[in-house]
Amino acid sequence: MESRLSPRPSAPPTTLEAEETPPRTTEPTTKRSSPRKPIPKHSMYPELDSNVAKLLEPHGLTMTFHPIDTDKSTFSRHKTNVVGRFKCPNTTCGHHKWESKSIALSIRLYPDNRYNARVYHQRCSACKWIVRPELDGRDGTYAERIAYRLKKWSGVQVERVYRDPMPPGHALHRAKLCEGCRAGRCKFFKDKRNGSRKGGGKRGDGGQGKGRGKVWDTGVYH
Ligand SMILES: [Zn+2]
Ligand SMILES: [Zn+2]
Repeated sequence: MESRLSPRPSAPPTTLEAEETPPRTTEPTTKRSSPRKPIPKHSMYPELDSNVAKLLEPHGLTMTFHPIDTDKSTFSRHKTNVVGRFKCPNTTCGHHKWESKSIALSIRLYPDNRYNARVYHQRCSACKWIVRPELDGRDGTYAERIAYRLKKWSGVQVERVYRDPMPPGHALHRAKLCEGCRAGRCKFFKDKRNGSRKGGGKRGDGGQGKGRGKVWDTGVYH
């Protein structure tokens, strides 16, 4: 994983490595180079299950993280979005960093009080590499959003949470860079056939949305 993403040009090869390793000149050198091997377009974060559990505990709910990333046998599914940070691992790209408030998240409920959530990755705007986000730093939106949905599915009374809309000038959601949109599984996905936006909302990041009469500031998440 590391080696395919990071050529590490600073490490001088030993004689043995030089014989076994192709010349570094074969590595991509332009900023718009593509990944050489398939990189996952989405992933799950079982390590954040304990954060979810803490939010469910006061309501007497206990859920188990289902480790298989599948839509099969789901009772319920829900599309939402979370906040996260990205850092492009392509060393020729200059380690482009960005934050997104519209990372596509698909929450799923399975039999026997099991759940999981698929997080869709985004592409670096500079080199188009697919990048996995870092979640639940300061904001904690991943656990919060999942706990909210699980409580709702479990019949717990929940209040709709409103968050401040995006600050002016925040970048718009770019569907071409969102693997959720590419898969048609992002709440900001726009169906080009009829111009409608699936799930409401304007163009994601920063959308002061007016989708079909409903204000879907990206600050309204649940
Ligand atoms: Zn990049
Ligand atoms: Zn999207």
